[in-house]
Amino acid sequence: MGELYESHHPLVRHKLTLLRRSDTDVRRFRELTWDLSTLLAYEALSDLALAETKVKTPLDHAAGHRLAERVAIVPILRAGLGMVDPIWDLVPEAQVGHIGLYRDEDTLQPVEYYCKLPPANQVDVCLLLDPMLATGGSAVAGCNILKRWGIRRIKYIGLIAAPEGIARLRESHPDVDIHIAAADCCLNSRGYIVPGLGDAGDRLFGTKMDEAARGLRTAEEL
Ligand code: URA
Repeated sequence: MGELYESHHPLVRHKLTLLRRSDTDVRRFRELTWDLSTLLAYEALSDLALAETKVKTPLDHAAGHRLAERVAIVPILRAGLGMVDPIWDLVPEAQVGHIGLYRDEDTLQPVEYYCKLPPANQVDVCLLLDPMLATGGSAVAGCNILKRWGIRRIKYIGLIAAPEGIARLRESHPDVDIHIAAADCCLNSRGYIVPGLGDAGDRLFGTKMDEAARGLRTAEEL
């Protein structure tokens, strides 16, 4: 049975608060997303299996460990991309896949437009990344795609979740662990998490952001 892990680490609380602020500019938003992704992945990977090994130090031999499980990192495009590099830095042996989904405006259902995944028989644990677990539609679709591909053990890592998204993901994929920095209050009528942080993709990539947020002009100059 999968678990819901909401991080209570002081660094996570502190950095998430800065991330949420509407005056956090694009550069800082990316840095904070980097730090939060590192901290959440550190916690999410705490049950990775180890194998014993030995290494030669300059003085002697030391008993040690190596990771016995192969990790894959799979962002859901586009906002999940902002979480890849910090986690890849932690696990440089990981393979990275990509899932592209868009929302059909008529059916409001996620539609797959891109999918490139590592071979399932080379993956023991897959980290599915998407910063915002809002309605849960993309996360459920992402898990469906990974399982259809043959990947069995999935951990979802996001920054903020709405109760609706958590409930939907847990109902559709009860075996998937959910790691988040915070569970917020609700969704608004446009599907945004409240209080949330706005559109994570726009804030990461500077799209639809004003010139102050992109560092072109100060707020006073605008
Ligand atoms: N996606 C976002 O980027 N933000 C939300 O609040 C909900 C979905």
